[in-house]
Amino acid sequence: MTVDATARRQAQVLIFDADDTLWENNVVFERVIDDFLAWLDHPTLDRVQIRAVLDDIERANAVAHGYGSKVFLRSLGECLERLRERPATDAERQEIDRLAVALVEHRVELMPGVADALDELAGRHELLLLTKGDQVEQQRKLDACGLLHHFRAAHIVAEKNVEVYQWLLREHGFDPAGAWMIGNSPKSDILPARAAGLNAVFIPNENTWVLEDDELDPTDAGVLRLAEFRDLLRHF
Ligand SMILES: [Mg+2]
Repeated sequence: MTVDATARRQAQVLIFDADDTLWENNVVFERVIDDFLAWLDHPTLDRVQIRAVLDDIERANAVAHGYGSKVFLRSLGECLERLRERPATDAERQEIDRLAVALVEHRVELMPGVADALDELAGRHELLLLTKGDQVEQQRKLDACGLLHHFRAAHIVAEKNVEVYQWLLREHGFDPAGAWMIGNSPKSDILPARAAGLNAVFIPNENTWVLEDDELDPTDAGVLRLAEFRDLLRHF
């Protein structure tokens, strides 16, 4: 692979998002939602309309209860109740649990090139991991991914906002000018990291959750946009 002329030769601090950056995540939720919509088979609302209802419920539940499959199951149940205009029956709750069984059993499926790229990057830079969500669920994925030895530390937080990035700077005592947040989410990875003075690498994932989307300033020179994870090797 050719190295970009602007590659950072000096050691940098590279902070990695996990879900949908190191491994697939949201696509599993999307498959469950597809099955849920097909099962609901609503007489008047189409899939797009029901999806809008579910997105609203998920947005509210993310603020109140955080992230992860438990909150997601709660959102599916509330969506059903709102559409049926009555409480869910036990049979319906069991069906929702059954639809979502893939979330619980989901194995960590690394994105292409991640294992090799991290191997190489760890020899040149200092690596950290920052993921948000349910502690137990995220820890289970971290334990299963086989990548943890590359990172000086892996942090699981409830939300990724500017305060969390400022805390990370203090915790590890690094210079934000030589640090990069690398992830797929404009809302959680790119914008708050930039607001805390870090650089950022945006690696879009076509399955990114709608709640993670936000506008990025295309003229912001502090954001590097890459098509694939392995492209990091050309720049760092
Ligand atoms: Mg992510």
